[in-house]
Amino acid sequence: MAKYIFVTGGVTSSLGKGIIAASLAKLLQARGFKVTIQKFDPYINVDPGTLNPYEHGECYVTEDGAETDLDLGHYERFLNTQTSQANNVTTGRIYQTVINKERAGEFLGKTVQVVPHITDEIKRRMLLLGKEGKFDIVITEIGGTVGDIESLPFIEAVRQIQWELPEDDIVVVHLTLIPYLKAAKELKTKPTQHSVKMLSETGVHPDIIVCRTEEPLNNDIRRKIGLFCNVKPDAVIEAMDASTIYEVPLLMLREKLDVICMRKLGISIYPEPDLEKWKGFLDKLKYPKSKVTIGLIGKYIELQDAYKSILESFIHAGAINEVKVNVVNVHSEFITEQNVAEKLQGLDGLLVAPGFGLRGIEGKIIAVKYAREQDVPFFGICLGMQMAVIEYARNVLGIKDAHSTEMEPDTANPVINMMEEQKKIKMMGGTMRLGTYPCEIAKGSLAEKIYNRLHIYERHRHRYEFNNDYLEQFEAKGLKASGINPDTGLVEIVEIPTHPFFIGVQYHPELKSTVESPAPLFVSFIAAAKKYNETKNSLISSLLKKETV
Ligand code: GLN
Repeated sequence: MAKYIFVTGGVTSSLGKGIIAASLAKLLQARGFKVTIQKFDPYINVDPGTLNPYEHGECYVTEDGAETDLDLGHYERFLNTQTSQANNVTTGRIYQTVINKERAGEFLGKTVQVVPHITDEIKRRMLLLGKEGKFDIVITEIGGTVGDIESLPFIEAVRQIQWELPEDDIVVVHLTLIPYLKAAKELKTKPTQHSVKMLSETGVHPDIIVCRTEEPLNNDIRRKIGLFCNVKPDAVIEAMDASTIYEVPLLMLREKLDVICMRKLGISIYPEPDLEKWKGFLDKLKYPKSKVTIGLIGKYIELQDAYKSILESFIHAGAINEVKVNVVNVHSEFITEQNVAEKLQGLDGLLVAPGFGLRGIEGKIIAVKYAREQDVPFFGICLGMQMAVIEYARNVLGIKDAHSTEMEPDTANPVINMMEEQKKIKMMGGTMRLGTYPCEIAKGSLAEKIYNRLHIYERHRHRYEFNNDYLEQFEAKGLKASGINPDTGLVEIVEIPTHPFFIGVQYHPELKSTVESPAPLFVSFIAAAKKYNETKNSLISSLLKKETV
C-alpha cells in the first residue's frame, strides 16, 4: 500500500499548488521513492477538453488520450514520468460515474446522496493509484480554494481518509498566502489563520503549512503561524517567490518540506536526494551564453497559460542549447501582408501555434509565408502545420482557394480535411483524435536528423488532417511528408528540404518535453534559431566593419 500526501490551498487561487506538489514529488523521487501526482478539480465539466483556453489555460493531453488540467503537464515535466486519465478527476466525472451506477440499478433502491455516495466515489479514486503497487507515495492536489462550496465533498473525502488510514500513511499540506503590507512593513498571518480554521472546521487538520510570501518568514512569524494554526514551527514552510518554477524543488529542499513529510509518514531511513541532472539543467538555464528571440504566433496570447507546455518546452530546449529563449507573443489576428515584415523583424524563429476556428488564421498563413520566403526557422504545431500546408498550396502550388474544411466546409480545395472517423461524431467532449500514435519517419529527412530514429510516438489532439489526395502535388513542388502514421497513412510531419529549417507537425511535441528529456523538435528548432541569429549577427558586424573602413 502506498502512502498519501494531500495538498490543499487557502486564501486565494493561483498560489502555485501544482508547482509545490510537483516540487515535493521531485524531491521524494530524487530520494528513490516511486511517486505520482493526481489532481482533483471541483468543476462540473467532465474534463477540461471542452473549455475555452481563456477559461482554463491549456488542455494537457496524456499518453492514453485524456484531456486534463495543465498541472498534469507540470507533474510530467518535473518527474519525467507519464500520467494518465486516472491522474485527473473532476466533480463532473465523479457524478457521471455515480449517476451511471444509479441508472444501472447498482444502489439497490437506496437514496443516492453526496455523503456517502459521492464522497465514496471520490475516496475510491483518490486511493486508486496507490493500490496498483506501482507507487510508494501518491500526492493528491485538491483544486480550488478551501471554503469554496464546490470543493467541500473533496475535503470531506480527505477527512474520511485521514480518519480511516493509519496516522503515518497520510500527510495534509496546506498552501496559503502570507501577504506583506508595505505601509505597515509587516507580514500578515491572519488570512492564513482563517483559512486553516476553515479547513479545521471541516475536520481536516493540516500537518504542514506552506506559506507563499514575498518576504522571508522570521522565527517569530513561524512560531506565530505554528501556534495559531496548531502545527510545529518547523512544519511552517516558507515558499518565497522564485525566479523560475524549476528552482522551487531546491527551495523546498532547503526548507525540508520532504523531510517533514517523511517524518510524518514514519519514513526514517532515506538517502540524500540525487538532483544532479536537475541542478545541471538549472545552471544552464540561469547562465545562458547567448539569446534567441522566437515569435509565438497565436491567438490566445493574452493568457500565458494557454500555451503553457510550449513555453516550458522552450525553457527546456533553451537550457540544453545554452541560450536564453526570449518569446515574443505575436497576435495572429493583427498580422497583414502590409505589416508582416515589420511585425516579425528581428525574430530568429517562428512558431505557429495550435488552435481551433477561423479567428486569426489568415495572419498565421501570412506569417508562414514570411518564414518560408525569408528562410527564417519555422515550426508549426497542429493548426500551425495545417496553416503551413494551406500557405504552400495557395502560394507555391497556385491553388488560390485552398483551405481547411474546419474554416470553410465547402471549399473546392480541402487540402486540410476532417478525418474520416471524425465525420460521424456528434458529441464534442473527448471525441478528437487524442493521445499517443506511432509515426514512421522518412530516411534522410530533417525529421530523422531531429529525432535520430525512424519510429516515434507523439501525442495528438485534433479533428482535421492533411488531405492525401494532394500529397503528390505537394511533394512534386517541394513540400515533403516526412512522417506518416504507419497504420492509417495520415501525414504527421511535413517539411521543406530546401529551407534551412521548416517543419510542421500534426501532433503536439510540447506535451512530452520534460526537464530531463527535452522534446527533440524544440531542441533542434532552438538550435536552428541560434544559428540563424549568429549568421545574422556576423553579417551585421561585417557590414558595419565595411562601413567603418
Ligand atoms: N483545429 C485543428 C484540428 O482540429 C487543429 C487542432 C490543434 O491545433 N490542436 O485539426
